[in-house]
Amino acid sequence: MAERLPAVFLDRDGVLIKDIHLLTNPEDIRVLEGVPQALRSLKQAGFKLIVVSNQTVVARGLLTEQEVYAINAEMERLLKQAGGPHLDGFYFCPHHPNATLPAYRIACECRKPRPGLLLRAAGEHNLDLSASFMVGDRITDIIAGARAGCRTVLVQTGKHVEPPIETVEPLDELVQSDHVCADLKAAAEWILQVR
Ligand SMILES: [Mg+2]
Ligand SMILES: [Zn+2]
Repeated sequence: MAERLPAVFLDRDGVLIKDIHLLTNPEDIRVLEGVPQALRSLKQAGFKLIVVSNQTVVARGLLTEQEVYAINAEMERLLKQAGGPHLDGFYFCPHHPNATLPAYRIACECRKPRPGLLLRAAGEHNLDLSASFMVGDRITDIIAGARAGCRTVLVQTGKHVEPPIETVEPLDELVQSDHVCADLKAAAEWILQVR
């Protein structure tokens, strides 16, 4: 059996790109400062880079799943243009407990704070979750990472004025990230130190 690999799971909005709340236009993508270099250093250290994102825009009927993939492709193009590496995976939850579109109105296992996206990625990429990290800008990211058995980093680049994430269960307020720092650059430095 092949050796399992460590990963850094990355929330998208507020970690890799500016969180503008319900991003639907690829022209609105703004890569955050220092992100391409931080991703490159993690990749060079042997981490798989996996994006895990709640995409309520699909449940609301604002974008199709194909359009979410197109936005991600544009984000990856911008990252590479700025010296960033290839991303190994992009997983998103299109569901919402109160989705506008009935097809997406379920209490799924993949909407963070549930760990379904990370567990699916771990299976498909042969990842070692206990050697992996989750970087996010919300407590829901941190809970999902902790439930998957990863160490967690909360970054402060996100915008927190929008309504809190609606969840089908109460959030576990006792969960705390293993580290808090300014941005992905600082998160990568910490990860490379403690791995
Ligand atoms: Mg976020
Ligand atoms: Zn889901």
